Amino acid sequence: MLNNSSYDVAVIGAGVSGLSCALILARHGKKVVVLEQHPRLAPVLRGFKRNGMFFDSGFHYVGGLGDDGPLWPLLRYLGLDIGLELTPFNPDGFDCLHNCTTGQRLCLPVGFENIRMQLSARFPGAAKDIKEYLDDIERCWRSVPYLDLDLDLNEVVNASVHGLTVAQALARFAPWPELQGLLSMHGLLYGIEPSQALASLNAQVAGSYYHSAHGIRGGGGAVVQTYVERLAAAGVEVRCGAEVTQILSEAGTVSGVCLSDGAEIQASEVIASMNPALLPEMLPAGAVRPAYLKRLQGLRQTASAYVLFAACTNPVEVLQGCNLFSQQGTGVFDSCLDQNVEERPLFLAAATPQHLHAGVGDSEDGESKIRHGVIGIVPAAHSEVAPFWSGPHQRKHGYESKKKEIGAAICNRIRTCCPELESLEQVDLSTPLTLQDYSMAPAGAIYGVGRFAGQYNPQAVTRLPGLYLSGQAIAAPGLLGALVGAYMTCGSMLGHDLLRGELRKWR
Ligand SMILES: Cc1cc2nc3c(=O)[nH]c(=O)nc-3n(C[C@H](O)[C@H](O)[C@H](O)COP(=O)(O)OP(=O)(O)OC[C@H]3O[C@@H](n4cnc5c(N)ncnc54)[C@H](O)[C@@H]3O)c2cc1C
Repeated sequence: MLNNSSYDVAVIGAGVSGLSCALILARHGKKVVVLEQHPRLAPVLRGFKRNGMFFDSGFHYVGGLGDDGPLWPLLRYLGLDIGLELTPFNPDGFDCLHNCTTGQRLCLPVGFENIRMQLSARFPGAAKDIKEYLDDIERCWRSVPYLDLDLDLNEVVNASVHGLTVAQALARFAPWPELQGLLSMHGLLYGIEPSQALASLNAQVAGSYYHSAHGIRGGGGAVVQTYVERLAAAGVEVRCGAEVTQILSEAGTVSGVCLSDGAEIQASEVIASMNPALLPEMLPAGAVRPAYLKRLQGLRQTASAYVLFAACTNPVEVLQGCNLFSQQGTGVFDSCLDQNVEERPLFLAAATPQHLHAGVGDSEDGESKIRHGVIGIVPAAHSEVAPFWSGPHQRKHGYESKKKEIGAAICNRIRTCCPELESLEQVDLSTPLTLQDYSMAPAGAIYGVGRFAGQYNPQAVTRLPGLYLSGQAIAAPGLLGALVGAYMTCGSMLGHDLLRGELRKWR
């Protein structure tokens, strides 16, 4: 076997969390290599071009980047703020709930106080409960390590996995089902049913957007480009197409990793930023106790999704600075996986308008024309497309027509539900199989291992000395959650007091 290199730290996975860990540790003088199974870095986040248009894949908008946003120090510390141009969402309505049956739309303005005022005016009978509910979210969403740099870590390290679920927290609004829908719609951004998601998880995700909502010019592609520049400047080595198959250990401590081509990479510490359910297969026999392996294997994953990439010939004004969450009826959002795709809830966002050149998207007189990208996300179960799987990036006959069929159903649903998007045409569709290939998440779990009520997710420190975990599973989903996860991991390695002290200088 080839024994070709030696590092202080090997990071498995080049997503937001893995890349952020690499930057933090390189800042502390560590020699770091990042190993990514996909041929390109940050496969989930980077987006892609199709028919001359850029579509975002794993990023549409981010919360927590308003004036006093707690995400700023985390970005500044890594130099990720430089060159990133934020595009504020519509302050009067950044996320709207669209009822497909009645056509009614209810929007959330940016800022807790604005939301309180607007919702209390609309639902006066619920005003007192609305205030209490939003006060809780405002208190809770940033009370996590590294978002609140003054928080006593002892209070949160063993944060409870019990507590009210989203459905329970919203039960008080039963007389106002429209309000229940509005306050639970962000469940689509963490992929857990309201009866199983902790209200504290909803607070963390939805609360960050209630605080502030921004897009980034150039989307996930621009974020990835910024990482590439910072990684190069920090001297971090990134190897793509490098699938880690084994974590190596010697004398009870980590000694490196082995790749699928047999190459061995020596490292004194290893960070596994991929889905933690994949870890047991990689660990040497006897390295950790069977109970720990069983716990990792049994972790519950979030739902998967179909992601529709479509184009409209008319400008999609309704989606300018605003996302639409749509449901068929009213009440608490449910993924409705037992129903047809047309009946399931839907998240709609705009892609950046692109100019199409001759050959694609031309009008009849040969002039090139502007087309407007739209992205639609609908919950899905892996089993719906599993029969077409025949290996990574390989599908059985009939998969393409299945994709067209599902895409057509989602397009129809969107056209009927939102007449403004009447000219919508499918460009492509990703399925749970696509998500599985890009992130390696079991069953194409859209946000990986979820923070389910009652589930103890693994922490950054593992039972094998020198092996750490990172990623959305140990913190929360999204750009914000993956960044927090990276800081939690590196804090465990370098010392939380040291890292938080350094971060305070970047507030
Ligand atoms: C459709 C979609 C839309 C989204 N929209 C938003 C949004 O608008 N805003 C937002 O904030 N978040 C959004 N997210 C969520 C966000 O993209 C994720 O939470 C975040 O990217 C997770 O980062 P991560 O580093 O934890 O995981 P990942 O990005 O999954 O990184 C893990 C990496 O590990 C690699 N890997 C796995 N196994 C191995 C192995 N054996 N060897 C080497 N490499 C391996 C994988 O290929 C992967 O690149 C969206 C996600 C999806 C899927």
